[in-house]
Amino acid sequence: MTLDAITQCFDLTAGQFEALVRGFQQEYDQGLNTAEATGLATMIPSYVTRLPTGQETGTFLALDLGGSTLRVCAVHLLGQGNVKVDEIKRSISMTDPLRTGSTLVFFDWMVDTVDQLLKDYGLQSTQALAMGVSWSFPIDQTSVSDGKILRMGKGFDLQDIEGQDLKTLFTDAFARKNVNVKVTALINDTVGVLVAHAYNDPDARIGFIYGTGTNAAYPEKVSRMLKLGSAYHQEHPHQEEMLVNTEIDIFGSDAYLPLNRFDRLLDANHSQPGFQLYEKMMSGAYLGELVRLAALELVQENALFDGHTPLEFKDMYSFETAQLSDLESRCNQSLEMRLHQLGSAFTFDAHTDYQPTEQDLATMTILCRTVATRGAKLAAAALASLIEQQHESLLQNQPIVIGVNGSTFERYPQMPERILAALSDWFGSDVASRIRLDVASDGAGIGGALIAMLYAEEEEEEEE
Ligand code: BGC
Ligand code: MG
Repeated sequence: MTLDAITQCFDLTAGQFEALVRGFQQEYDQGLNTAEATGLATMIPSYVTRLPTGQETGTFLALDLGGSTLRVCAVHLLGQGNVKVDEIKRSISMTDPLRTGSTLVFFDWMVDTVDQLLKDYGLQSTQALAMGVSWSFPIDQTSVSDGKILRMGKGFDLQDIEGQDLKTLFTDAFARKNVNVKVTALINDTVGVLVAHAYNDPDARIGFIYGTGTNAAYPEKVSRMLKLGSAYHQEHPHQEEMLVNTEIDIFGSDAYLPLNRFDRLLDANHSQPGFQLYEKMMSGAYLGELVRLAALELVQENALFDGHTPLEFKDMYSFETAQLSDLESRCNQSLEMRLHQLGSAFTFDAHTDYQPTEQDLATMTILCRTVATRGAKLAAAALASLIEQQHESLLQNQPIVIGVNGSTFERYPQMPERILAALSDWFGSDVASRIRLDVASDGAGIGGALIAMLYAEEEEEEEE
């Protein structure tokens, strides 16, 4: 395999882009109309039927569990779209035993962190505080505050967690630990990002996550959500829209996903083969591994590092997206500096003492750019399909505002530009000039607090 042949494998043609957009749209329709009882739900109703106006005020708790971080915060809504956040963060490394241990222990650990936050910021009170939970994994929801935990990705393998009720797990842990907090809302992180961005900009119509994982949420017409069932529609005749967690990460079949040999190899070696095929082609957890697999082929052909395999390529996932990003971000530096950096990024057998060459640098840079640019196009295909799904706003000459959160989007060099370029190829420059990809960096947590607030009020109204 030559470098050219490999870059061709990662090419995404206009035809393939179109097939992706149409394929996604078909899955939207199918998902909206089928009430799944399987463990792999997509197009999950959030039961969130209104967005904040930006005028809300008060203090609410939020817990945001991501793939590598737990964040608990007290969100002070100050009105006029302003917020102040007090938070505690705990990271969960890939090898942390918490990830694969007992569910009880994991929930106790999360609740201890909430307790710590309340103590650190003097927030204990006799009245139970309302908390919104933003869960960066799928939940099969039956209301704003109820839902069963579906299969978790991102290396989480907690004992017997699948199928358990998320709110109950928290309620029990709060009781065990004697912490006076009640969960009033459960949301997927994408829903959180959209809600948080809407607090800031009421034009926001899509919440997109492009980090370790990927996913999107958007407001759908309730009338188009047959999966809610006729009883739901009869009880809520005036509901116009509901936010939907697409779980687009799980989408994709061979029918329209342009999987190449490296994608298939990555999937075959993965602990959850066949799961999240789209996410595996483009999200931050996998870009490095795709580059590693492609680079290894070139090494074997003596077309990279003169046939020497660096230590950094020996193990699966040993080459990370941050390294791709670092290589690409140095494009403007002098050749000497870039070679020096490449030399320090890779370790070769002491007795060969190989020094990477200018050719190696060029090859590695092209590989990284190729894999990351395909990632950007795949992200753009999801956004294009979601913009079309809400075609009214497309016709109405309004700004098309997308709140985006995630390290791949926020930190990878030129990621926003690459995504916008692909959107411009699809929609033309007129429509594309109305598309705004805004960073919603604190999204999930603030969104969780906002929903906790919007629906804590509702609970009180119902109780009265
Ligand atoms: C999860 C989604 C989540 C996304 C972004 C995916 O792996 O399945 O629920 O929204 O990552 O964090
Ligand atoms: Mg997150």
